[in-house]
Order: sequence, then C-alpha cells, then structure tokens
Amino acid sequence: MPEGDSLHRAAQRLQVLVGERVEVETPHPRAAVKGLAERLDGRRLDGVEAIGKNLLLRFEGGLVLRSHLRMNGRWRIEPRGTPRKGKPWLILRGAEREAVLWNGAVLELVGARGAPRLGPDILGEPPDFETMLKRLRVESQKREVGDALLDQRLVAGIGNLWRAEALWEARVSPWRPLAEVGDEELRAVLEAAHAMMRTALDGPRPPRRVYRRAGRPCPRCGAPIRSAPQGDNARTAYWCPACQR
Ligand SMILES: [Zn+2]
Repeated sequence: MPEGDSLHRAAQRLQVLVGERVEVETPHPRAAVKGLAERLDGRRLDGVEAIGKNLLLRFEGGLVLRSHLRMNGRWRIEPRGTPRKGKPWLILRGAEREAVLWNGAVLELVGARGAPRLGPDILGEPPDFETMLKRLRVESQKREVGDALLDQRLVAGIGNLWRAEALWEARVSPWRPLAEVGDEELRAVLEAAHAMMRTALDGPRPPRRVYRRAGRPCPRCGAPIRSAPQGDNARTAYWCPACQR
C-alpha cells in the first residue's frame, strides 16, 4: 500500500502539468470503459492534491478525477512520447511531459463536491490535530487505537508503516482501546506520525524501528518486536511489548 507520503510525492511531481491543456488517453481496457478520456481530453489541468490516500486531479469545468493507488498503483512523469510496453491506465500528455498512471485500481470522476468524506490529512500544513482528536473521540472508544489510526474517516493518510512507527515513538501499544489512551498520548501519536511523514516527504525515509522487524530487538529497550494482524482488514501491527504500554 503506498503510504501517504508517496502520494504527496506523486502530487508534487504532477505539478509540472498544472496549467496545461492535456491530451488524455486510457490505454488499459478497464480504464477505457469509464469514458474518462472522452470527458477530460483537451481540458486544462487546474490542480493536483493528495488528500489522505487519494489523489484529486482538478480539471477546468469543475471535473475532479479521483485516483486511489491501492496496492500497486504508480504515477510516473516522463518526457512526452516516451515509448513503453504494456497498457497504463491513464496518460495525461502535456506539451513536453506526460504523466502516466500504472495499475490504477480506483479511477473515477467525482463532482467538485463529490470528494470522499475523509478525516483531516495527517500531512496538512498545519495538520488539524483538534479535528482528528474529535473524530477519534466520537468513534467507539472500545476500538483499538492501532485499528482506529488506519480509518481514513478519522485521520487521512496514515498507512501501516507510519502507524507502527508513530505508536512506537509515542510508546503507545496498538492494542489499547481508545478509552484507555489519553488525549495527550493520542496527540503525541498523531504528532509523531506527522513529523515522521513530513521528514520522509522532504528527504529519505527515516529508519524503521518496528515495522517489519518482528523478532528483532527493540532499538529502545532490546525486547523482541512482535507482530499480529489487527482490525477487520487484518493489517499487521508491529510493536514492542515491553516499552509500548
Ligand atoms: Zn521496547
């Protein structure tokens, strides 16, 4: 699953096409049936933004294309006319460069107001921690904090990697029910996620402390890191049983 910072990187790369009228092609048959090329071809690309795990591409006339990358989706920027094998989902071709979406998964037009209902973006500048906390508090307080952090309706943009790392940083176990996590602790987790994802967005990703390190020693206390599936989607949680309470 591409993490929120990967999507923000994609949004940054796509900025080179903003302001241009683009030729639009949908070579992949599953994308072609959506009729997107017909509706978007020749329109000016007015803006690209990452909101949570969605990339929203705004075109003149109020059309908004939502791209969710799921597991394998990738956006690339290449010189116009770059030869390629295979059928990408979408090509947005500008005068000099083209943006190419491989493995689209979710690609749909939404109205200007049809954007999915997402919580505040963890990479917002500044991030709206107050609203995130409010949403986490109106959720069932029996829900485990590690599970709740992946719910895009509550906080948008935290993926499995940063969930694990932020909880470790704040010394909070992913298994504690929200009821047993104080506001200060919850805020510390959100702030850690924001800070680490910001750092990763501006440069190389910081080293992992727990993510995919099951069985290896915790860098803080030396206890073996554990892993187990969590939540309805059984995403793997990683944590230190000794120093994450
Ligand atoms: Zn530890």
